[in-house]
Amino acid sequence: MFPARFDYLRASSTDEAVAALAQHGGEARILAGGQSLIPAMRFRLARPSVLIDINAIDDLRYLRETGGSLLIGAGTRDAALETSELVTSGYRMIADVSVLVADPVVRQSGTVVGSICHSDPAGDWGVAALAGRAQIVVRGPAGTRTLSADDFLVDSFTTALAENEMALEVQFPRPSEHTSGAFAKLERKVGDFATASAAVQLTLDTSGAIAEAGVAIGAVGAKALRVSEAEQLLRGAKPSKDVIRAAADAARKEADPGSDTRGSAEFKKEMAGVLVARALVSALERLGVGGMA
Ligand SMILES: Cc1cc2nc3c(=O)[nH]c(=O)nc-3n(C[C@H](O)[C@H](O)[C@H](O)COP(=O)(O)OP(=O)(O)OC[C@H]3O[C@@H](n4cnc5c(N)ncnc54)[C@H](O)[C@@H]3O)c2cc1C
Repeated sequence: MFPARFDYLRASSTDEAVAALAQHGGEARILAGGQSLIPAMRFRLARPSVLIDINAIDDLRYLRETGGSLLIGAGTRDAALETSELVTSGYRMIADVSVLVADPVVRQSGTVVGSICHSDPAGDWGVAALAGRAQIVVRGPAGTRTLSADDFLVDSFTTALAENEMALEVQFPRPSEHTSGAFAKLERKVGDFATASAAVQLTLDTSGAIAEAGVAIGAVGAKALRVSEAEQLLRGAKPSKDVIRAAADAARKEADPGSDTRGSAEFKKEMAGVLVARALVSALERLGVGGMA
């Protein structure tokens, strides 16, 4: 099907994009990689009357580390992360996502920020943003504000962005020397959305106990979900098979999926637990703690 009729504006700066959003209010949508928005328009699930294309704004295309965080600009494609030495060496959980999100063709166009703005419950980047305690910088007519991923991801396909705001970048705090993470995803075939997914990030203290934990699950609820109970169980505990099992049970409890062509609700709930356990084992192995599988 063809999209409904729309006007097209190619913004050459963020000033211009924000001004256009203010001018057109809720009628306009930002076009980033178009990998989610264009299919939604073709199925008439989205009918913006104006598309504001941000692809010509070179200032939004960056991937760099500043002030102890990885900054990913709104114009940065998924594919840029996959081949980044900075990401593969310092941000293991993000590196995992970068090769599992969609397929290589989609990753050439899709953006990390666009994916987070889309807030698809089965999307991979929202899960990573929760576990990695990412922040999203947004800009509107009154200036910029910074939101935690928890506050930004409101519901299915709904974020805290106001009609006249756009997202500029996502910031992932740099994992310390004693921090690592992992992302695990069950998909029917390469390039498919998740049947279920899990992202974790752990910090060990000098005694080898878990000082900090981020645990999130995807495709098993209305949006990407933080598993706070698992985080509490892990915090302060020595790594063990028992604590991993307990964290996995907490994920099963938190998951609230529906049944669809990817599997029954019971199966997805079970997979949420399995994937959290799998990601915890990988993260611990990366921190030099073996024997947990
Ligand atoms: C075949 C296929 C398979 C896929 N598989 C997966 C998968 O396995 N996992 C997964 O996570 N995703 C998957 N996707 C989705 C893909 O990753 C999308 O690219 C991504 O979700 C959206 O990024 P985008 O840059 O294309 O955003 P767009 O499609 O351009 O925009 C998506 C939404 O976000 C808004 N938006 C975008 N950027 C901004 C901004 N800077 N400020 C404000 N609003 C903004 C748009 O207005 C729109 O509402 C798949 C897509 C396809 C086509």
